[in-house]
Amino acid sequence: MSYMALYRKFRPQTFEDVKGQDHIVTTLQNQIKADRIGHAYLFTGTRGTGKTTVAKILARTINCENPVDGCPCMECAMCKAITAGNSMNVIEMDAASNNGVDSIRQIVEEVAYPPTEGKYRVYIIDEVHMLSTGAFNALLKTLEEPPSYVVFILATTEVHKIPITILSRCQRYDFHRISIETIAARLQELMDKEGIQVEEKALRYVAKAADGSMRDGLSLLDQCIAFYIGQTLTYDNVLKVLGAIDTEVFSRLLRHVINGEIPQCIGILEEIITQGRDLNQFIIDFTWYLRNLMLIKSSDDMEDALEMSSDNIALLKEEATMVDTEILMRYIQVLSALSNEIKYATGKRVLIEIALIKLCKPEMEQDISALNNRMANLEKKVEKGVPVVMQAPAAGQAPAPSQAPVKKEPLPAAIPEEVQQVVSQWSMLLGKLPVNVKTYLKQANTRTVNEQGELVIIYDQPQGSERMAGDFLNRPEVIEEIESAIEEMIHKTVKIKVEINSSGVSSQDTKTDIVDFFASKGIEIESEE
Ligand SMILES: [Zn+2]
Repeated sequence: MSYMALYRKFRPQTFEDVKGQDHIVTTLQNQIKADRIGHAYLFTGTRGTGKTTVAKILARTINCENPVDGCPCMECAMCKAITAGNSMNVIEMDAASNNGVDSIRQIVEEVAYPPTEGKYRVYIIDEVHMLSTGAFNALLKTLEEPPSYVVFILATTEVHKIPITILSRCQRYDFHRISIETIAARLQELMDKEGIQVEEKALRYVAKAADGSMRDGLSLLDQCIAFYIGQTLTYDNVLKVLGAIDTEVFSRLLRHVINGEIPQCIGILEEIITQGRDLNQFIIDFTWYLRNLMLIKSSDDMEDALEMSSDNIALLKEEATMVDTEILMRYIQVLSALSNEIKYATGKRVLIEIALIKLCKPEMEQDISALNNRMANLEKKVEKGVPVVMQAPAAGQAPAPSQAPVKKEPLPAAIPEEVQQVVSQWSMLLGKLPVNVKTYLKQANTRTVNEQGELVIIYDQPQGSERMAGDFLNRPEVIEEIESAIEEMIHKTVKIKVEINSSGVSSQDTKTDIVDFFASKGIEIESEE
């Protein structure tokens, strides 16, 4: 048995199957019962809300030989012919492909002759806003004085494009976006009929993604079922089918932005445009993706707040390590501003391109967050150079704080575990320091915590070697700069100790003792090297 799309299989055939448009269905049924059928209807509303479905049911009901309480009997010859699409009494036209004056003239000529069978000839003109001005004018004459046996049903998603002269001659019905509950309930009903097991949470997610359109809801559900035929459709699986594509695109885009690769970013935008995606929505979704990255970075137990499959959460966690929180915040700010800007703009593409370039090239902007971003980029590029050294204090000597600024309140001293936390969030610390300090700090061979809870930075500098980064770093004002950056980070004071290891043995080897020391206390020391 071949599989039939849910949308086709379960297209409502009677008014009672139409969901979420009760205000329209009730009014139309009352008109039918009272035999007060209008001659021109205008159905408006977003796509997939049931406009053409209701138009066809209306056409069938008013032609039915034995209507029951405002519903078609589905048994008589007329009902059968219309359902099969064989009746001459229901003429469907898509104004998107037949928008010229000729197609309307043809209708106007036909209208002169009454139907040979049944009571009404019904013209359903879909996407009617696409008609040319000439076509609208030709239609107008017929709408002014339609023969009693003719009913026009005009359907449109863009009612503001319909000339007022046409509007004033139609009964207007506004189809609502269908609520998540209504869509989910309908999907559940159909899954029961099909005998397919689906998790309730999964259906709700599909209903939410359908964004008010029953048709979209059904085709999204179809997509999911096709991937997991014969299995229970779980929430995780739905997320995989509906979310996987986007996550992949967002992930690629983010990586190119981080690397400042403008042509690749523009290339992805091109892909999105070619796919006919809604650009507003794309920017909103990408911003949301970055927001999720921030949540993941900020805490470990954020997974429940994210509606994502566990696979995607793992991917996000990987990405989260690639970018600093401050830089993510700048991205989100730029994109939020963009999404306001493009909402009503005509040149969306250019605006998005500019924003992508801004993200890739923070030097184009002057504010603080952009400066931070520039620092991070510069830092990547700065190569190891020989620093200018003034006077180097003796190795291993704790420097005296000579010109420490007066603090308002002394902060508590950090416990060893907290110092270890600084060590494991090294890139965050680097982000807070001037480029030169950062560069020399990065040349350190080992960073660790000693038994006194001091943060120890060790430079392996064998006798006679020329590496002087350690000497630079060991200057009181530099140490102080690092200490205050750490205070800013964890709101505790930490003592920095710079050691120049001239023993010739790698400091990584001697560090093992300290790791063991902490391990004996049940503290795990991780090394980024
Ligand atoms: Zn019938």
